[in-house]
Amino acid sequence: MTSWQEELKNAITNSAGLACALGYDPAAAEAIIARYPMRITPYYLELIKKAGEPLRRQAVPDLRELEDPVGMEDPLGEENLSPVPNLVHKYPDRVLLLVSGQCAMYCRFCTRKRKVGGEALRFSEEHFVAALDYLRNTPSVREVLISGGDPLLLADERLEDILRRLREIKSIEIIRIGTRTPCTLPMRITPKLCAMLRQFHPLYINTHFNHPAELTKEAERACTLLADAGIPLGCQTVLLKGVNDSAEVLGKLFCGLLRLRVKPYYLMQADLTKGTGHFRTPIKAGLEIMRQLIGTVSGMAVPKFVLDAPSGKGKIPLTPDYITAMQEGRLEFVNFQGLPCSYPLE
Ligand SMILES: *Cc1c(COP(=O)(O)O)cnc(C)c1O
Ligand code: SF4
Repeated sequence: MTSWQEELKNAITNSAGLACALGYDPAAAEAIIARYPMRITPYYLELIKKAGEPLRRQAVPDLRELEDPVGMEDPLGEENLSPVPNLVHKYPDRVLLLVSGQCAMYCRFCTRKRKVGGEALRFSEEHFVAALDYLRNTPSVREVLISGGDPLLLADERLEDILRRLREIKSIEIIRIGTRTPCTLPMRITPKLCAMLRQFHPLYINTHFNHPAELTKEAERACTLLADAGIPLGCQTVLLKGVNDSAEVLGKLFCGLLRLRVKPYYLMQADLTKGTGHFRTPIKAGLEIMRQLIGTVSGMAVPKFVLDAPSGKGKIPLTPDYITAMQEGRLEFVNFQGLPCSYPLE
């Protein structure tokens, strides 16, 4: 057994384990876990013990998950946008392919909370054949985004098989993998995995870090291995109340990611997913954080702040408003310090 499989085998998945590790009330955890699975790797557990609340909230079940009157099971309308099972075709030139229902950790705020970790998200050979047929018949698709669950929870051989068969389709130019393992299970990133992945360039990986305390030596090692395999790395961070909802924390995270050669790609407003209401921040809070970051830290460290519009309408960029007026032939605006400026309209 490799060390990442060992790590998963030793993960906490039930209320007794949680009670033992973090002194959590087992009765409370039981009901939540019955509905939404839990998995906390020994690696992430150690980080929780060091960094406390911001990491604990991401991983440890909370009773409020069962008391959310606002959220929807499928806020992005993914089920309606799937021409074949596990393939979501929302944009003209790219699709999302869900190849695994497993994750190293079940994030309590996950948009696919309804599906991950259970039987609801399975990717069979039959599903894959149907997806390949669809992609062969739909040459407008130039990019396949492989996600889940977490694709890196598959064995190297299965992942290689998926990548190879996708690469046989000539109209597919770009393959992008979404994985949280560099953050939650960094030992998953091995030289063997990287040697396999680099056969399939242009291959991109978008990972998912939410807090600077997640940028450990182990995470650095994982990102270095991937970057050295020529894989451009991006990060999709979710804006979460009590985890990272301040410019100070996010500035630290984004600058730290750049040092690991990971480009902050998206800062995502938390989706309207049932069971995640306690994580959601007001839209204005995100806009204010963006205003504080833009101009004060490297432009490379500043991601786009986006909202994934309900019912599959797609991601919408949210930008603080710098324009104050357009009048008498002038664009009136403020700069990053709030100083008024002006520029001719034509
Ligand atoms: C987010 C998403 C993508 C990728 O969008 P980008 O803006 O290219 O990162 C593709 N398909 C679906 C269904 C998505 O939700
Ligand atoms: S790793 Fe991603 S898909 Fe898995 S639970 Fe976390 S947010 Fe959801």
